[in-house]
Amino acid sequence: MTKHEVWQMIKEKNIRKLMVIPGKKVSLNRFETGWAQNDELKKVGKDALKDRAAALLEANRIVLAEAQELLWASNIYSVLIVLQGMDTSGKDGTIKHVMSGVNPQGCRVTSFKVPTSEETDHTFLWRYTRALPAKGEIGIFNRSYYEDVLVVRVHPEILDNQQVPPGKRGDTFWNARYEDINAFERHLVQNGTLILKFFLNISKEEQRRRLLERLENKDKYWKFSLLDLAERRYWDNYQGAYEIMFLKTSTEMAPWYIIPADYKWVARSLIAEIISQKIQMLDLRFPHVSAEGLKELEKAREELNSE
Ligand code: AMP
Ligand code: MG
Repeated sequence: MTKHEVWQMIKEKNIRKLMVIPGKKVSLNRFETGWAQNDELKKVGKDALKDRAAALLEANRIVLAEAQELLWASNIYSVLIVLQGMDTSGKDGTIKHVMSGVNPQGCRVTSFKVPTSEETDHTFLWRYTRALPAKGEIGIFNRSYYEDVLVVRVHPEILDNQQVPPGKRGDTFWNARYEDINAFERHLVQNGTLILKFFLNISKEEQRRRLLERLENKDKYWKFSLLDLAERRYWDNYQGAYEIMFLKTSTEMAPWYIIPADYKWVARSLIAEIISQKIQMLDLRFPHVSAEGLKELEKAREELNSE
């Protein structure tokens, strides 16, 4: 078996392995954050795989560009890509790499921060609906409505400043939010949005390394935030919030993918691969031109030729 065939086999296996099966309880510590998904991968070796991943990313860039053109031309479907992950997990870099080949006209990236007062004057889903991709577009959410069941679930006191009706912030409250999210996504999917949700899964040790790197390299100082360090102390709470979120919101219509992200090349190539595969599965076609339309095109051609 050639290395290419091995990679192909593993890649296919991985994609299925990475999907959170709806209704199944996930234990994040059972998900590999590194490059070696299984023994077969280890046998191939990291460097060989890295080369293959670069080639795969390049191939996917071309597929993605073509898929986007079709998406744009047919103007029926939208693609919504949701990226979640702890600080330093590589959300920005993934967007930059994966989308580097697509036409910026058909692609919109929105990063969600702490909600503004205008945003908290509305229900929690409002600001996300405003940023949804139009038909024909790819929309990327760098953080998303899932923050409202992650950072807010870890720090429920945030709700005190969000004009949310009073009451206990127990399971009933959070279950209502998961339900809202599922209903929201169901509406989108039923009306032609392909939703792809990725969790960039890094280890706590890798986050420590990346934060330290920001402190050791002058050009990276700007990236360091004391807030990231503060949130790191809640690592286990976040892992817990993610696990419940996966259980409640990984659905047949819009499943979650848990992406090993300690190695950036692994995360990027896997995500590019899943996006390409899923857009291709929409089986898009360029718009059909009617017999009438073809005649008009013929006339136009004649006119231009005879000038
Ligand atoms: P960054 O992605 O590093 O620019 O940071 C954005 C910050 O905004 C993170 O600390 C998030 O936790 C926070 N954030 C994003 N969405 C929400 C939300 N819905 N409620 C509260 N904080 C949020
Ligand atoms: Mg940050």
